[in-house]
Amino acid sequence: MISRSRTQARLGDHVTHLMQCRRCPRMQSTPVSGGVVVSDVMLIGQAPGPREPVLQRPFAHTAGRTLFQWFEKFCGLSELIVRSTIYFAAVCRCFPGKTPNGGDRVPAPDEIRNCSSWIDEEIEILRPRLIIPVGRLAIARFINCATLDEVIGRKFRVERAQYRFDLIPLPHPSGASPWHKIPPGKQLTERAMRKIALHPAIAGLVDRHRRARRN
Ligand code: SF4
Repeated sequence: MISRSRTQARLGDHVTHLMQCRRCPRMQSTPVSGGVVVSDVMLIGQAPGPREPVLQRPFAHTAGRTLFQWFEKFCGLSELIVRSTIYFAAVCRCFPGKTPNGGDRVPAPDEIRNCSSWIDEEIEILRPRLIIPVGRLAIARFINCATLDEVIGRKFRVERAQYRFDLIPLPHPSGASPWHKIPPGKQLTERAMRKIALHPAIAGLVDRHRRARRN
């Protein structure tokens, strides 16, 4: 069994290399990382917006507010605990820039391919028990996602980087789409969050956080 300190060191090296990555010339920022958080749980977003590179953390703006409200409401975990106990990754780690109509550009297939090796390496290092992909682009990296209705509220067993784990997808919490606010998306999102709250890997995070605070 690999020791926690060795995993911490490998993940530290990994994040250092990730922050130096410049593979995608069309990206408009350098990579954003949630830091070196050894965890049984990975949360995978789509790509940072314009504010995240400035604030140097993922989900730093309005989408993050909604996401962290879900964790507070259903799991009893504050933003601080979520950020310090869950490893944050993304389909692409750099801000793709804006489209002519002002929305965030969706990363191109070559950029998604370029960035996927970072996720594979993180799965190999962390061997997570639970992965939470947030938004269709992130979900589609693991399972077919023709519509959110078919996948939100369900748990999947998935293999990636020669490793098996549970996958519980969430919709993107950005205000750009109302899907998670109206039926059936609202109910399906709540069902997904209840599944996340009951997952043993989440319970393990809460226990570990409480023990760390006592010591
Ligand atoms: S999007 Fe990913 S692969 Fe592309 S430059 Fe940023 S970190 Fe590197």
